[in-house]
Amino acid sequence: MHTQDTRSFSLELFPPKTPEGMEKLKGTVAELNALGPAYFSCTYGAGGSTRARTFETVDWLRAQGIETAPHLACIGSDEAEIRDIVSHYIDQGITRIVALRGDMPSGMGSPGLSAFRYANELVAFLRREYGERFHIEVAAYPEFHPQAPNAEVDLANFKRKVEAGADAAITQYFYNPDAYFEFVEQCDEHRIDLPIVPGVMPITNYTQLARFSDACGAEIPRYIRKRLEAYGDDKASIRAFGHEVVLNLCARLLEGGAPGIHFYTMNQAAATLALWRELELPAAG
Ligand code: FAD
Repeated sequence: MHTQDTRSFSLELFPPKTPEGMEKLKGTVAELNALGPAYFSCTYGAGGSTRARTFETVDWLRAQGIETAPHLACIGSDEAEIRDIVSHYIDQGITRIVALRGDMPSGMGSPGLSAFRYANELVAFLRREYGERFHIEVAAYPEFHPQAPNAEVDLANFKRKVEAGADAAITQYFYNPDAYFEFVEQCDEHRIDLPIVPGVMPITNYTQLARFSDACGAEIPRYIRKRLEAYGDDKASIRAFGHEVVLNLCARLLEGGAPGIHFYTMNQAAATLALWRELELPAAG
């Protein structure tokens, strides 16, 4: 007899900046949707900086009948603005939200006094206003959030979001599986009880990866950095090596009991398709 697979395999997109990018994304989504992901999520720029484009992407996904989880970053927004966005999503039949603090885009000034300050306040607001209407995902940081004064404080802050009503967490990407397993164990010890789905970033472009990782505090292990650096402009070798590294990472995570994988697709289909197929991940039931 088969027991039901409750793991969640999902895919993240960002809202394209141009009409051409949007057209290209439609092709990417068609390819990826054939895998049967549990849902696609779509990022949102704090302070409303991508609001129109996130809506466009989310509305298009919903028009295709695709399960969609918009990200909602609260920093720099007041309650009226969050209500406005959420009511748009209710109209679109959205039942999942990835609730975040976000980071103010540079040049947009400070968040202001009336704004939400942390993700736990957004989660509490969503629960207070909308009850159980949404499945709420929050962000988790196995290598800890770069602004946290220390690991213990960061874990306590993570617990606040969970206690405010999060259903599940998605992690920042990492390449050291022990960081994830250690984090999950710490959560157990602190009675933080929810599925923590590892976020996985395929490796296809070293310069971009190095830039992101410096900004978000995700460590690229030295042996990976060195190998990628050595490939220079040889994109085929970067992709082949990146595929092996990330395939092994995913396999270890799943063997170790991870409750799914959230792929940061970067709006590209090929690398995620190859990983999903080689790992023989299941389509959502
Ligand atoms: P929080 O949970 O609020 O934590 C932020 C920092 O504040 C941490 O250092 C924490 O320790 C501390 N803290 C938290 N609560 C408190 C409190 N009550 N009192 C004092 N300190 C506290 N960014 C975007 O702009 N748009 C996106 O779409 C987006 N999607 C993401 C998706 C995932 C899965 C992940 C992992 C990150 C995403 N980000 C996105 C990035 C994220 O917004 C940044 O990492 C941001 O700096 C923190 O957001 P958070 O929701 O984790 O914040």
